[in-house]
Amino acid sequence: MAENSEKTGKVYLIGAGPGDPDLITIKGLSLLNSCDVIVYDNLIPHELIVTIPPNIEKIYVGKAASAHTLPQEKINELLVEQAQQGKNVARLKGGDPFVFGRGGEEAEFLRKHDIEYEIVPGVTAGLAAAASAGIPASHRDKSSAILLLTAHGASDHEFFVDWDWVGKVEKGTVIGYMGVKQLPNVVERLIEAGMPPGIEAAMIERCCFSTQKVVRARLEDLPAEAERQDVHPPAIFIIGEVAELSEKLEWYNRKILSGVRIMITRPADQSKWIYRMFRNLGAEVIAYPTIKTVYNDDKEGWEKFIKSGGKDNWLFFSSENGVRYFFGFLKSKQIDLRLVGRYAIAAAGHGTLRALKDLGYQPDYAPGVSGMVKFARQMCQDVEVDRVKVIRVRGQLPHDNIEEVLKKGGAEVHPLTLYKTEYSSWHENEIRRLFMHPPNMIMFSSGRSVDGLVEILGQEKALELASKSKIATIGPTTSETVRKYNMEVELEATRHSIPDLINQIVQYYQKK
Ligand code: SAH
Repeated sequence: MAENSEKTGKVYLIGAGPGDPDLITIKGLSLLNSCDVIVYDNLIPHELIVTIPPNIEKIYVGKAASAHTLPQEKINELLVEQAQQGKNVARLKGGDPFVFGRGGEEAEFLRKHDIEYEIVPGVTAGLAAAASAGIPASHRDKSSAILLLTAHGASDHEFFVDWDWVGKVEKGTVIGYMGVKQLPNVVERLIEAGMPPGIEAAMIERCCFSTQKVVRARLEDLPAEAERQDVHPPAIFIIGEVAELSEKLEWYNRKILSGVRIMITRPADQSKWIYRMFRNLGAEVIAYPTIKTVYNDDKEGWEKFIKSGGKDNWLFFSSENGVRYFFGFLKSKQIDLRLVGRYAIAAAGHGTLRALKDLGYQPDYAPGVSGMVKFARQMCQDVEVDRVKVIRVRGQLPHDNIEEVLKKGGAEVHPLTLYKTEYSSWHENEIRRLFMHPPNMIMFSSGRSVDGLVEILGQEKALELASKSKIATIGPTTSETVRKYNMEVELEATRHSIPDLINQIVQYYQKK
């Protein structure tokens, strides 16, 4: 959607769900990928943000308990300003935007300023916590009412909730937000108001994360138990007969990597499948790319491509990125796709082949050889390369082994360098969040991604993070870079591939 200052944009108040990036709605996700700017909060999974196309602006307005970034009035004003500039704004909030998220105030402010909006509901933390702790929020025999409340202000001075009334709820489920600090107060008041001290209750910390913690106790014992088990925000408490089902219905955190936090540093646009794979294995994915790829304008390379073609002319792809940037450029410049038809196509690597096939191309040469150099050598044997001209689509490299092999075989090779990597930058609050819940394992798939971490955090902080975690690398060269910064390598892939690295990580935790 292009920016258009004549027309006012629209604001979408979108619920992101409780923390698992897969729990956003399809509508929410599709709006995130098509808006002009995203304004997002503290509890939003980082993965949802880093996988959004780079041309979409991202503004962080989160409130960490200790560091207020933008007061609510300023957020309201920001939304109006952005919409008035003609942008479509995705206002992304944790859980559901209208459940204890001040979404109501934002909508009121937008209406007052005549800004159009839509509300996209989300999975609210209270119900998600019940589900992931195996507590049916309603139950035919045990509960026919669900009460969502905030414990914020449960101290003597501020009465937002009529605790005397809540204490009289029978055959119902009380679900409390923002209640870690106030729990002893809340429990005391409820028991005073007549709630049975022996009724079952639970506290769920970081629900829907791999590190979710469920504390179960009778109501009167819950505060002491929560303290003993060191419960921290964000957490939900649930009180009611239904809570007794939690033990029986428990289902969460039963996978190989449950409870393990893996930080993935490669560019997010190449990592979506890795995020998914780790999540399917039960791990919590910490999507903090240290590098990103950006388009490189190679005028000379393009000119060669456009002017060449015909018999014995090849296009050589060896990465998904190459395919993406190549066809992305042709489309954006409205260059006729039929030009590609003047070339034979070679595709090295599984991901490359898949990316081409997704676009409807059936490469002329794509043997299942693993390793780029091996692939090039094989091609020299199978194709009479001494007669051919190759447009070699690639990223910026200090040295291109493929080009070297093909040239040795007699081919004329012209690089078309379409992307380069740059260091990412992280918001200071995002760094704080990273240190609050540090990863168990940091995965590096290139030396440059290690350099990126040191560049972003500074060597001292990078070392501090590394000392809280273990490091896994894709191979010896990357390990060397890790050691150059005095960090230790815990494990290394043997076959220099991401699937192998993932395998090694799984085996490492299986042994433990
Ligand atoms: N709009 C959000 C609530 C925001 S208030 C929603 O609908 O879920 C913030 C509170 O939500 C936290 O203090 C905590 O009580 C709860 N919360 C949010 N995410 C949570 C999570 N993953 N696990 C447990 N509680 C969570």
